[in-house]
Amino acid sequence: MPIDPAGGAGNPVTDALEEVLRRAAEVQSGAVADYIPELALIDPELLAISATSVLGHQYSAGSSEAEFTIQSISKPFVYALALADLGVEEVHSHVGFEPSGEPFNAISLDPAGRPANPLINAGAIVTSALIDAPTPQARFERIRSVLSAFAGRELQLDERVYASESETGHRNRALGHLTLAAGALPRGVADATEVYFQQCALLVTAADLAMMGATLANAGVNPVTNVEVVTSEVARQTLSLMTSCGMYDRAGEWAFRVGMPAKSGVGGGIVAVKPGQFGVGVFSPRLDEAGNSARGTRALTLLSQEFELNLLEHHHAPASPIQELAVTASGGMTVSLRGEIDFIAVEQLVHDVREAAGGDPADASSITIDLTAVTRVGLAAARLLTAAAAGRSAWGSTVQVVDPSHLLAVALTG
Ligand code: GLN
Repeated sequence: MPIDPAGGAGNPVTDALEEVLRRAAEVQSGAVADYIPELALIDPELLAISATSVLGHQYSAGSSEAEFTIQSISKPFVYALALADLGVEEVHSHVGFEPSGEPFNAISLDPAGRPANPLINAGAIVTSALIDAPTPQARFERIRSVLSAFAGRELQLDERVYASESETGHRNRALGHLTLAAGALPRGVADATEVYFQQCALLVTAADLAMMGATLANAGVNPVTNVEVVTSEVARQTLSLMTSCGMYDRAGEWAFRVGMPAKSGVGGGIVAVKPGQFGVGVFSPRLDEAGNSARGTRALTLLSQEFELNLLEHHHAPASPIQELAVTASGGMTVSLRGEIDFIAVEQLVHDVREAAGGDPADASSITIDLTAVTRVGLAAARLLTAAAAGRSAWGSTVQVVDPSHLLAVALTG
């Protein structure tokens, strides 16, 4: 069968997504959120899944262009913006790092009055309020423009959903008052909650969520527009909290069954990330008791199990990084490495050199490490190799590194 480069039917990735969606559609449980009245109007049968790779390749099945409001999926992206603006110390003087184990709208405050984490309502209202701008309107525009950069297109506000939540969002205002009383909220409650309601009412598709996730998976760089939306450090920090706190009081079971950093919203969307590989967006409006899309949860559980995506998955022994280890006539040693060199590859190199030298590498009067067949050296590996090459190293031998593509310099200077 010819493979469609555009990712259509006949492409094995698209076919796999179609199959996951077909099986997820068997889930009949759950109910559309109606505590924000306007959300109850959505078609409960809409169903979509999209995946975008870190190379920007896009795959979809179902209604991947159907729009819905982002709701709580805005939280990690606004948290990323707050980290970029203010840094970890300042942001986390207002909000904690810990999973609350409670529903999304619970009064989860630590003894000092700080919300447990930025991905529950109390924490997200605070995080949103930390974004710096002269007016509420300008603050919303900053948030909208950063979320749009993650998605790679201009996201629009659903005015009706915003108005509907603004009319009924008394519990969120109460959370605002509690955090204000505790000194965690940096501005007035009405100012903070209106912008929070607006960020929740931005319209996205499953394809947008996949692209937003892919930007986090790709170390903060949107893989289609190539815009660096946040630094790789902020992307990693955001993914850390999505791993521990993204699915509210289901975060533990989610880590167990799915094992991908993720965030859900009461609009029916879920974003999930496989760092270094791709972002996934799913959409189905019926929610389970924890407020997570019921079919979306099933779809991501199936996807993770079928394709071994759990981040704690053991991917079995990598191919040896050592292409050849030769002892030269003068008693020296030449070791040719290949492929991707990470920390564990250097550990194996050091071990094998010792073993080849009969347990004492000082016997190998000089060691040459040849990186000609190497495609990339990681930062930790580069530090270890550089230390090894520094004069008469811990190996007791003169170490010389042949590095025609300057991979060590690339790794060490970023
Ligand atoms: N705007 C919603 C609220 O604050 C977001 C909740 C959610 O998606 N879990 O209630």
